[in-house]
Amino acid sequence: MSAESSSPNATPAPAAGSELIRFDGVTKRFGSNTVLNHLDFTVDAGKHVTLIGPSGSGKTTILRLLMTLLKPDEGTISVDGEYLTHEEKNGKLVPAGERHTREVRKKIGMVFQQFNLFPNMKVLRNITEAPVHVLGMSKDEATERGRELLDLVGLSDKADAYPNHLSGGQQQRVAIARALAMRPKVLLLDEVTSALDPELVAGVLDVLRDIAHTTDITMLVVTHEMNFARDISDDVLMFDAGRVIESGPPEKIFSEPEHERTREFLSAVL
Ligand code: ADP
Repeated sequence: MSAESSSPNATPAPAAGSELIRFDGVTKRFGSNTVLNHLDFTVDAGKHVTLIGPSGSGKTTILRLLMTLLKPDEGTISVDGEYLTHEEKNGKLVPAGERHTREVRKKIGMVFQQFNLFPNMKVLRNITEAPVHVLGMSKDEATERGRELLDLVGLSDKADAYPNHLSGGQQQRVAIARALAMRPKVLLLDEVTSALDPELVAGVLDVLRDIAHTTDITMLVVTHEMNFARDISDDVLMFDAGRVIESGPPEKIFSEPEHERTREFLSAVL
């Protein structure tokens, strides 16, 4: 079924309230491979939720759906009370057009494994570019905010450096600042330390711990760093074959997993 044929029956998106993200019956296939299978889950505002599970279980696909880099085959996704996948036109819900998608997506920031900084722009400009050109923020305000964010990620002295003069860990911290500069309601983190040399991982995780503990931003995190997941998560969702097979606070999932697949997975990664 396509997104067109799975339009919800003109029900408005769930009220924002404390719920920021909702996946409702989301199915995603690649050819004959059903990667997500009628997936339901919600994330409340301000919470930090970590997705764990074996490689290929669909975790990155969830983040890519939220970024609208992919579309679901069935089901709906809403963010902050608005469907990402649909919009209301003449009292009916229809598949979302580009403008609607762009607006809802402004609520979402993402940091990828590869930092993808603009190599021809200095660090500060990397951070201010989108707030100025996408949000219409004044250059002065974007610069002030950019400097605050560089301070937050511990790189105040690198504002005028070019990305290729920074270590991978420093580049990733700039990418985190760049994502936060758009003032997203939710920050998606996809294996943000897995492309880094081992000695650079701790610095990036420390910055993220700091952000998790000192800001009210909602986080949806895919990571293999289980100690980090334990430190920052309010909830951990364990995926297997495109479904959540177990969820709960980290102390429960990591110490007393109920599901055999969770135990197997954790004994392989811990
Ligand atoms: P995880 O993040 O849990 O490792 P992914 O979401 O990356 O899992 O992938 C889930 C499954 O979807 C895998 O079998 C993967 O090969 C497949 N997949 C992901 N993206 C694509 C794509 N663009 N085209 C085809 N198959 C894909």
